[in-house]
Amino acid sequence: MGTAIYPGSFDPPTLGHLDIIRRAAAIFDELTVCVMNNGGPGGMFSCSERAGLLRAVTADIPNVRIDSYSGLLADYVRGFDCPVIIRGLRAATDFDYEVQMAAVNRNLNPNIETVFLAAGGNYTALSSGVVRELGKRGVELASFAPRDVEEAVRRKLRGL
Ligand code: ADP
Repeated sequence: MGTAIYPGSFDPPTLGHLDIIRRAAAIFDELTVCVMNNGGPGGMFSCSERAGLLRAVTADIPNVRIDSYSGLLADYVRGFDCPVIIRGLRAATDFDYEVQMAAVNRNLNPNIETVFLAAGGNYTALSSGVVRELGKRGVELASFAPRDVEEAVRRKLRGL
């Protein structure tokens, strides 16, 4: 069913992101996961580190590729035919923001269609921020993040 693009910050990728990636990759012929580099402060991983982590945790999914972009999503997707954007919905707060963003993107680029996937049952309260915070408090991250990400968070917090 064509190509889809899953954009996000992925700082760092969580099991919730990976669940959306696997499900979208099962629906679409190709899925491009794009780290959007918004250059904002307060991040844990650089854009290229996030992309590297995404590559590691999706290595077993053949139709997924990882990319990164600094700029507007509406501009990034101009390189795709009939772009479909995948976004995940966890709660009503996501819904309000995401519906607004979908409308903005369509105003900027009328070819864009946004498709929402509901968060998996175990992941409705999971975010990158939760992984960063729990990591700082030394909590075991196996239920929240892939093993490669957990190790990267530990290394980052040790300043390595
Ligand atoms: P952004 O800064 O673009 O929101 P995120 O990395 O926080 O980037 O999220 C990227 C996308 O993944 C968003 O659509 C977000 O709603 C979705 N998402 C994040 N965490 C989860 C989760 N646990 N389950 C399902 N979708 C999620």
